[in-house]
Amino acid sequence: MIETTLRSLIRDVPDFPEPGVLFKDITPVLGNAEALAELIEALAEPYRDQGITKVAGIESRGFILATPVATALGAGFVPLRKPGKLPYDVIREEYSLEYGTDALEMHTDAVDSNDRVLVVDDVIATGGTAAAAVRLLERPGADIAGMVVLVELAFLNGRAALNGMPMSALVTYGD
Ligand code: AMP
Repeated sequence: MIETTLRSLIRDVPDFPEPGVLFKDITPVLGNAEALAELIEALAEPYRDQGITKVAGIESRGFILATPVATALGAGFVPLRKPGKLPYDVIREEYSLEYGTDALEMHTDAVDSNDRVLVVDDVIATGGTAAAAVRLLERPGADIAGMVVLVELAFLNGRAALNGMPMSALVTYGD
């Protein structure tokens, strides 16, 4: 079962990137050919035949998962990046992270009102990043179908920040 495989491969790294944070390291999943293929399939599967036109990935680990999910769904990929990284005209949304504050930017022409978008990230913690991603995508009028993540840290209640938007996680900790 994919959840058991993923749970056994995800590595806890204490005090990274700063004291008090238990970091969920997904690189052992990415490095396992079979688990990686199953992971991408499991993330994409609920959104097959859902009319997804774009898959938005959140920098930076979200990019790794969102791009193959996009190809699996026959959709395009949209990068939501940290400030100053995107070369063209951008819009920006600020957010607070489990460890610090930051912002996400998106190209002004990345999505429009004809797009139905799936948001992908590796981990949802407080949900601040995901909520900022949704705000960004909604500004040009995109329809957000939902969000999929590999890991949900349920004790941080990130779901509450999403205002009822569908969000599914393959592995949940602390519920
Ligand atoms: P949040 O905005 O609090 O939901 O934080 C989510 C973002 O921060 C995601 O892009 C994750 O990659 C990263 N993140 C937050 N907490 C962790 C954690 N404990 N382990 C790994 N990544 C995390």
